[in-house]
Amino acid sequence: MEDTLVRALAYNGSVRVSAVVDTHLVQEASKRHDTYPVAAAALGRSLSSALLLSWGLKGEGLITLRIMGDGPLGAIVVTANAEHTVRGYVQEPHIDLPLNDKGKLAVGQAVGEGYLHVTKDIGLKEAYTGTVPLVSGEIGDDVASYLLQSEQTPSLVAVGVLVAPDHSVAASGGIIIQAMPDCPEETLAVIEENLTKVKPVSTLVKEGASPETLISHFLPETDIQYLEKTPVSFKCSCNREKISGLLKSLGSEELKDILAKEGKSEVICHFCNQPYYFERSDLELLLAEITNEKN
Ligand SMILES: [Zn+2]
Repeated sequence: MEDTLVRALAYNGSVRVSAVVDTHLVQEASKRHDTYPVAAAALGRSLSSALLLSWGLKGEGLITLRIMGDGPLGAIVVTANAEHTVRGYVQEPHIDLPLNDKGKLAVGQAVGEGYLHVTKDIGLKEAYTGTVPLVSGEIGDDVASYLLQSEQTPSLVAVGVLVAPDHSVAASGGIIIQAMPDCPEETLAVIEENLTKVKPVSTLVKEGASPETLISHFLPETDIQYLEKTPVSFKCSCNREKISGLLKSLGSEELKDILAKEGKSEVICHFCNQPYYFERSDLELLLAEITNEKN
């Protein structure tokens, strides 16, 4: 099944819901960054969260999640845009931890304590950043805390990644359920009571669930009004031109220094791990461009 994101309303519009099944894109991110299982789970949950939170982005809009924990994984940074593409990385992908006391990948322990920063750039002049302390480092809880504290929306967030013994991503998906201000208490009670019966998202996805199936598991006894269904994918916005610009921004002295010491340069994009090679002649060209731009 193709990676898909679905947005909908339920309970007469008093609840809005986004659900995603994104196994392929999380597998691609995991492969690009050569992640070990706990890093794959943390990165995958973060990528799913970014997609789920990207509701309402238009044009050049971008949402960025920065999970800055003090655990061994280091920072996790992911972005999602209005075209429903995501990219992201985890600072230390080669972290291995024993399973936690529930027999699950120890994502919370690997992330540690710290902060979640969510930056929403909806194409206006100023981007808005909300920051909350990490609740558990399990990502889902932390995103729910952000939605409650920063956007005053009581929310349920479930994101999950199942990593196979060979370290490949066997299943990934997520769901965010948000109570609108007019949501009746009884509706919330129905949703919460039902939660105890729902299997983990990653299990449902492994069993073949689509985003619509996830919604029907999490939101019982209601008509769903579907608003949007769209393919999602991993895609980085880096290219040689941008990396050239980055090298030029180092300035002519720094470039001369690289030429003298190494004679060439390799720049790796953080977000997608794509290497860009600059030979001596390429660097000399960039240097010439800097000189020309100054005159
Ligand atoms: Zn890139």
